[in-house]
Amino acid sequence: MQTFERLESEVRSYVRSWPAVFTRAQGHSIWDEDGKEYIDFFAGAGALNYGHNNPRLKQSLLKYLESDGIVHSLDMATDAKRRLLERLDEVILKPRGLDYKVQFPGPTGTDAVEAALKLARKVTGRESVISFTNAFHGMTLGSLAVTGNEMKRHGAGVPLKTIAMPYENFLGDDVDTIDYLRTYIRAGGSGVDLPAAIIVETTQGEGGMNTASVEWLQRLAELCRRNEVLLIVDDIQMGCGRTGPFFSFEAAGIKPDIVTLSKSISGYGLPLSLTLFRRDLDVWEPGEHNGTFRGHNPAFVTAVESLSYWEDDALSGDVLRRGEVIKQHLEWMAERFPEAKAKQRGRGMAQGLHCGVNGLAEDIARGAFERGVICETSGARSEVLKLLPPLTIDDSALERGLMVLEESLVAALERRGIAAARTPAAV
Ligand SMILES: *Cc1c(COP(=O)(O)O)cnc(C)c1O
Repeated sequence: MQTFERLESEVRSYVRSWPAVFTRAQGHSIWDEDGKEYIDFFAGAGALNYGHNNPRLKQSLLKYLESDGIVHSLDMATDAKRRLLERLDEVILKPRGLDYKVQFPGPTGTDAVEAALKLARKVTGRESVISFTNAFHGMTLGSLAVTGNEMKRHGAGVPLKTIAMPYENFLGDDVDTIDYLRTYIRAGGSGVDLPAAIIVETTQGEGGMNTASVEWLQRLAELCRRNEVLLIVDDIQMGCGRTGPFFSFEAAGIKPDIVTLSKSISGYGLPLSLTLFRRDLDVWEPGEHNGTFRGHNPAFVTAVESLSYWEDDALSGDVLRRGEVIKQHLEWMAERFPEAKAKQRGRGMAQGLHCGVNGLAEDIARGAFERGVICETSGARSEVLKLLPPLTIDDSALERGLMVLEESLVAALERRGIAAARTPAAV
């Protein structure tokens, strides 16, 4: 660890949460250099939905590299890219009635968002974009402008113009935040112009696992449609099956104008991101948003292979079933340990435990790491213990991991002298 402290910038982040040097990983397991095994409930922040070193994906990648397939090509045409475009269309877009064109931004989520914001402005000729409280859309200037977290925004060192409107339930259960939003953009005297777009996450992965209801999303889509405002769904973390269906917005039956994907789109943890948009919005001039790394062919190869998981409903069904196991366990923890003032959040295999006791979620995560489970926290004050296991985790590992979280909760409460010793019961 000393090497990292001595040579790597203070900007390093996750290395501080999990002070171990990792050497090997397979499926839901990751090993450190002392040979200790951890169950990975973090999954690369959702970049490893199909697990570490997924054997199917690995085989396709090895074969491609072995055959001297093209690794870098800027955005020239390659057979790997053609195959991805075709498979995405056949397996994902066509069956869902989505006639989207595909843009390859730089291979990070934040650049997919930058492309979406630019395009929305170019199409509408309007300047502003509305985002939501506790939103996270990335760390470059445009994406930061639509991100809620103050610490992250302040890192930019320049003023970032933005309008954040309350997400569902941000103002309590009684305030209808869609009505509120409608009033602002229609009033004329609100100081809020009609925006080019509204950007939203269906579940706020970084912002505390707040989940918008199906009705709220439907009303938001309708509000956008009526006012000719483009709806951007940032599905970078919640897409690729994280909440059950391939796109997280499918449950609401809405069709966003623009969709961003990254994290698990390559399936293998290789960097790749996509910005998808309605065909008629494709007003880009050639090269208007480009760069060196637009065509990461190894990532195309694993992405193509990962789409095989979406040829039927099996994985989607597993996610919903495992999501129910997670939900029940978290609700049960909240009920059994009222001292934690805890509440289940999220949907599918993107869930969290909101802890009303200051610092408790971080304590649980730290304890879980010592006991061999990796999970992070989420929310502006890290108040939510966040679970993001690989979608392909087997049921017994999932339950073992959940038991460890429960033991860690008990230990964290005990350390605070809040609860008497209680032996965790089986699920
Ligand atoms: C991770 C994330 C991003 C940013 O992706 P990077 O690859 O880290 O730039 C944007 N939006 C959402 C919802 C994310 O979860």
